[in-house]
Amino acid sequence: MALPVVAVVGRPNVGKSTLFNKLIGKRLSIVEDTPGVTRDRIYAKGEWRNRQFMLVDTGGIETSTEDVILKQMRQQAELAIERADVIILVTDVRCGVTADDSAVANMLQKSGKPVILAVNKCDTIGEPPMELYEFYNLGIGDPYPISAAHGHGTGDMLDALYEYLPEDAEDDDEDNIKVAIIGKPNVGKSSLVNRIAGEERVIVSNVAGTTRDATDTVVENEEGTFTLIDTAGIRKKAKVTERIEHYSVLRAYMAVDRADVCLILIDAAEGFTEQDSKVAGYAHEQGKASIIVVNKWDLIEKDNKTMREYEDKLKNDFSFMSYAPFLFISAKTGQRVQKLFSLIREVYLQNNIRISTGMLNDVLAYATTRVQPPSDKGKRLKIYYITQASSKPPTFVIFVNRADLFHFSYQRYLENQIRSTFGLSGTPVRFVVRERAKDEK
Ligand code: GDP
Ligand code: GDP
Repeated sequence: MALPVVAVVGRPNVGKSTLFNKLIGKRLSIVEDTPGVTRDRIYAKGEWRNRQFMLVDTGGIETSTEDVILKQMRQQAELAIERADVIILVTDVRCGVTADDSAVANMLQKSGKPVILAVNKCDTIGEPPMELYEFYNLGIGDPYPISAAHGHGTGDMLDALYEYLPEDAEDDDEDNIKVAIIGKPNVGKSSLVNRIAGEERVIVSNVAGTTRDATDTVVENEEGTFTLIDTAGIRKKAKVTERIEHYSVLRAYMAVDRADVCLILIDAAEGFTEQDSKVAGYAHEQGKASIIVVNKWDLIEKDNKTMREYEDKLKNDFSFMSYAPFLFISAKTGQRVQKLFSLIREVYLQNNIRISTGMLNDVLAYATTRVQPPSDKGKRLKIYYITQASSKPPTFVIFVNRADLFHFSYQRYLENQIRSTFGLSGTPVRFVVRERAKDEK
């Protein structure tokens, strides 16, 4: 069974992000200082008393112009109602109950989903403040006084949450490759899912309580089992406003977070657009393997050079993820749709690869003999050691004498050596450079 989804909703500035970070626990790992991984995650795993859940910050991208707050909260709440199994509504004790809080509480209550009411910024330990009682008026049960900043009260709140978390939920099994299908409205996301569903064996997973995956399609074929995460729902409700645009992007981000592999769909007739680079950039930053899928290839008048030229142009547009393979398909005619699965599997395995330290250092020794590391003012870069710290994406830690001597071009050279030796052509990889005095080695 997939992990239950717990959504955090509430007005801007009540402390949603602070609570989110508190609940997922700041995991200080060796990869944390990886440059380029700047954007906050929207989904993260949390755990309380041995029950796991996926926490989602629906406030992930919000602006706080007064007149749009309510509208935005409604959309947040809608998204939470649609996707989450449990919802945490965060309010601010210092503001009391606001009209926006009431409006959203109403929506949440009508949905019938379990809601936990957190009253944040109750910073003093001891008796809850008098102001707390006013929050009973929201009509969604007991308010839990918490201080997201200090952590007070979050235990009691999590105990309440615990009651709604299934006992036996676990992260989806390893063999099931999760594939996000992302791209602008009308590129053919639903058509692709339908085409695949028409040709492959569709497994209807009827697990009680997992309403969140209503739009997922699970298929099985000789390449394995795949869960297709369709983000097409986006367009159905959307009118063309900027705010809704934000939310369609947020949904795409949520799909990316859940996925192992992202299919970035481009409309062949339209070509690359800014919005494509935004979502693809997020997939890249999150270290996901991606495939750039050019759909509607049937619409293009072709000669023998067309595909090559088209690919060259797209390669330029997607230069920030030069590792991503291309596939030209037609969801309409089914052309090359079959090829998708072996490619998905391939990039998935690359993204998950574990390379032994011994093998890595063999490559390092060979590479540094072939091309000497750079030097500056008589000081030469020494690379002592390389090891893989994690996978998804493959992340390598390199210990050197002086990081400033480790120029980009030489890093690129090493990266290419590693990529070609281990066949890592379809996944992002990361390098973390650490300085170390020689005797520490
Ligand atoms: P969001 O917009 O709802 O995500 O709110 P943030 O998490 O960004 O928090 C908004 C502001 O409230 C920040 O300045 C936080 O430092 C502050 N804040 C969050 N939680 C608490 C808390 O428990 N106590 C106090 N005093 N301030 C808090
Ligand atoms: P979504 O919004 O990304 O889910 O896009 P849809 O799957 O709803 O497709 C949008 C439109 O493009 C529909 O009219 C489809 O019939 C059409 N379409 C989708 N895939 C193809 C394709 O491969 N070739 C052509 N010619 N049309 C397609």
